[in-house]
Amino acid sequence: MDKGIGIAGVAGRMGRLLVEEAAAAGIRLVGGIDREAVAPAGVRLFPDIAALAVDSDVVVDFTHASAVAGHAAALAAAGTAWVLGTTGLSESDDVAVASAARRIAVVQAPNFSPGVNLVLALAERMAAALPGDDYDAEIVEMHHRQKVDAPSGTALGLGRAVARGRGVALEVVRESGRDGHTGPRKPGAIGFAALRGGQVVGEHSLIFAAAGEHIAVSHRAFDRRVFATGAVRAARWVVGRAPGHYSMMDVLGIR
Ligand code: NAD
Repeated sequence: MDKGIGIAGVAGRMGRLLVEEAAAAGIRLVGGIDREAVAPAGVRLFPDIAALAVDSDVVVDFTHASAVAGHAAALAAAGTAWVLGTTGLSESDDVAVASAARRIAVVQAPNFSPGVNLVLALAERMAAALPGDDYDAEIVEMHHRQKVDAPSGTALGLGRAVARGRGVALEVVRESGRDGHTGPRKPGAIGFAALRGGQVVGEHSLIFAAAGEHIAVSHRAFDRRVFATGAVRAARWVVGRAPGHYSMMDVLGIR
C-alpha cells in the first residue's frame, strides 16, 4: 500500500475504531470524511469522497445507505479500491455497487467478523443438505437501540446463504415482521425476526426446525472492534486486486 487507507464515516462508532485498527496494523491513515465534520484527533478531514478517493489506495466505508451510490461513482472514477460495510442498501444501491465493481475491486460484507463469515459458509451447506419442506429456516437477530435498519444486513446475508443452498431467490421466500393473523407458515419460507434494545453489538441465530429436531447456529459479537479488525484486514487484501465484487469469505479464503 503506497498512499494508505481513507475512512468514510470517520467520526462514527465504526469510523473511530477503524482509525485505531489501521494504526494497530501499521497502515498509513490518509484521513477521512464525515457528514458531521468532526474527525477524531489527529485525523485529516477531506472535503468530500472524491478528494479522499484520489489520495487513498482504499477507502473503508461505514456510513449510511444514502451515501452509497455517490461513493460508488466517486471511487470508480478515481480507480480506488472500496471496502464497504454500510448496510440497509436499496436495490438501486446494489446496482451502483455492482457497477463500480466492474471498474474497481470492492469487498462488500454485511459483517466483517471471521466468525459470522464461517457461519455464512456453514448456513449454505446446511441449507443444501436439509430439505426446505421439512426444515423451516428462521433467523433471529438482536441489536442496539440505535440501529436504523431491520432485519440486519447480517441476517439478510444469512438468509441469502440459506436461499443459495436451496437454489431459490431470497426475495421469493422471505417472510419478515409477522404480526396478526398471518396464516400458517409457507413451506420453504425463510423467516426473519428482529429484536432491538440496549447496547447489543450483534446477535444472530439461524434455526432449522423440523418435526423431530432443531438445529441452531448462533453468533454473538461482544465488541464491534471485531468488525473493524476484519475491515482493515479486507483493506490490506483488496489493494492491488483486479476489479471485482468480493466478499469477506474471499478475504478469509473460506468460499
Ligand atoms: P454511526 O452512525 O455511528 O456512524 C456513521 C457515520 O457516518 C456518522 O459519523 C455519520 O455522520 C457518517 N455519515 C453518514 N452519512 C454520511 C455521508 N453521506 N457522508 C459522510 N459521512 C456520513 O454508525 P456505525 O455504527 O458506525 O455504522 C455505520 C454503518 O455500518 C451502518 O450501516 C451499520 O449498519 C454498518 N455496520 C456494518 C458492520 C459490518 O461488519 N459490515 C458492522 C457495524 C456496522
